[in-house]
Amino acid sequence: MAVAAAADDDLADFRPTLVKWLENDVRPYVLEFEHADRYPVDMVEQMREFGLFGATIPREYGGLGLAARPYAEIVATISGVWMSLTGGLNSHLMMAHLTNRFGTQEQRDAFLPLLASGQLRGGLALTEPDCGTDLQAIRTLARREGDGYLVTGNKTWITNGGQGNALALLVKTDLEAKPRHTGMSMLLVDFAQRARSSWHASYRERITRAPVLMTVPALMFFVLPLLVLVMYLVFTPLMGTLGRL
Ligand SMILES: Cc1cc2nc3c(=O)[nH]c(=O)nc-3n(C[C@H](O)[C@H](O)[C@H](O)COP(=O)(O)OP(=O)(O)OC[C@H]3O[C@@H](n4cnc5c(N)ncnc54)[C@H](O)[C@@H]3O)c2cc1C
Repeated sequence: MAVAAAADDDLADFRPTLVKWLENDVRPYVLEFEHADRYPVDMVEQMREFGLFGATIPREYGGLGLAARPYAEIVATISGVWMSLTGGLNSHLMMAHLTNRFGTQEQRDAFLPLLASGQLRGGLALTEPDCGTDLQAIRTLARREGDGYLVTGNKTWITNGGQGNALALLVKTDLEAKPRHTGMSMLLVDFAQRARSSWHASYRERITRAPVLMTVPALMFFVLPLLVLVMYLVFTPLMGTLGRL
């Protein structure tokens, strides 16, 4: 049963289904998965079947169009059993939110239906080895090359970075810009598409166990040459808009 049956302010029909699934198919296995550091493929698939990867994505793009409150209730319910499961969902929906709120119509049409169905699993790639809080200090650089961008840099701690296939990737387009945020942009990257062209992103071996299973603590190295197909600029500058999220 999908959450679609539930109205924004009334999750009564869906809640028993969710709770039953959590008690029967999640709770008994949490410690086993955590200790083995194993990705819960079947659980994530079940969340996809529930429609949760489209939870807050507008219905016109195939999502459930839930408001913040019912979505938060779902997250709280899942987190009560296994918090890690919600990390992947939240990061994915943050990418969807950015796309919907700041993207062009073309970007919304290209990404939101795929994100809503879970065909694309998204993440938000901001943090770098030398900067987290002070995002204006990022060094990942995107340079115009032909119809696309050449992106070089490192990201770390990216939830869904290992298991997902799409990222909202925070980059600098001008390292010397002053103020620094005026040289920043967010690129929407479709890994699945990239795998068929010239995308290359690799991960150093997981160097420590992730405190949250779906987060990649090791470095992600980006070398993205010849990106001509689906590489979109969402907005510039970023910092002025992050504050309004
Ligand atoms: C489980 C997990 C999942 C994550 N998922 C993602 C993800 O999906 N995408 C992503 O981009 N990142 C992710 N991160 C990274 C996270 O966003 C960063 O860890 C965070 O932004 C802090 O950055 P930092 O670790 O470099 O700490 P720092 O920025 O070095 O901060 C260290 C400490 O100093 C404090 N501090 C920093 N600057 C100031 C200041 N000016 N004044 C006062 N205090 C200050 C901070 O509050 C903090 O206590 C994840 C991290 C974890 C642990």
